[in-house]
Amino acid sequence: MISSQERARGAYLGLALGDALGATVEFMTPWEIVAAYGKHAKLRGGGWLHLKPGQVTDDTQMSLALGGALLANGRIDPCEIAAAFSQWMRGKPVDIGNTVRRGIVHFRHSGQPWVPPSPHDAGNGACMRVLPIALATWRRSAEEIRQACVAQSHITHNNELSDAATECVVAMLHLGLEGAGKEELRHGPVAGLLAAYPQFRFDDKECVNPSGYVVDTLRAVLAAFFRHDDFCSILVDVVNRGGDADTTGAIAGMLAGCYYGEQALPAEWLRVLDKDIQTACRAQAPALLQLATAQGGALLARVRVRNCPGGDDARSTRPVVV
Ligand code: MN
Ligand code: MN
Repeated sequence: MISSQERARGAYLGLALGDALGATVEFMTPWEIVAAYGKHAKLRGGGWLHLKPGQVTDDTQMSLALGGALLANGRIDPCEIAAAFSQWMRGKPVDIGNTVRRGIVHFRHSGQPWVPPSPHDAGNGACMRVLPIALATWRRSAEEIRQACVAQSHITHNNELSDAATECVVAMLHLGLEGAGKEELRHGPVAGLLAAYPQFRFDDKECVNPSGYVVDTLRAVLAAFFRHDDFCSILVDVVNRGGDADTTGAIAGMLAGCYYGEQALPAEWLRVLDKDIQTACRAQAPALLQLATAQGGALLARVRVRNCPGGDDARSTRPVVV
């Protein structure tokens, strides 16, 4: 019997492992990967970002920034999350998506922790970093979960496909934390997503070379997740499809890590994974779960935002919270 805490730690470490594994082959085609590595199945660093073995990228870093903001405030406050993202960007991250950068710049200029709706913002950037929201909203009401997902996502991505994918991943994580089987995931949240947005269908053809378009990304993740029955096989499959491999790795890693639990993570990958990142993941996972269960009242700060104080000032001057 795997505890929910082990599943939460498995998800957070799985996210980091998938990111570190996939980053090596990000933007390569499956054929280029075969030529370079045969089957890419170890944390070797390199890639277009010239990473150290076990180094992670924005997918993990933004998740930790988000989780840190939730824990520092004891609630989900879009102003504080946006400020944490802004501070992260100031630290000159190793990589950052265009939509993410635009959203953070928008926040700095406007003080609004949301971007306007955009048909072009269907990238995977909101989905890749959603794990802390899933942990912090475990067993909360459906409406609270939905609002928390939207508040987090819309800081940079305000798009219905991004929202649908992100909410599906969160629902899969919530079921996973309860120990649900794959059939439950498939007939529940995944079936719901496919009914509303058939373009996410993943079992009709091979999902290779997935782009940063959230539909491509999630199709590759779901195909790998449902095809195999162990953590390593899922991760190795999805990153060897190439494309946005650090992000497919990150999302597949959080789902598989939650589903199989911390014990199922390969020791030889954990030996190489960045130690500070591991420590942060192990600390945040149970604390975020506790946030979800310990708090009786509303988790999501109802911010009467004229606007958050923008950029650097967002931490010193608090918005009015009701
Ligand atoms: Mn990345
Ligand atoms: Mn990526």
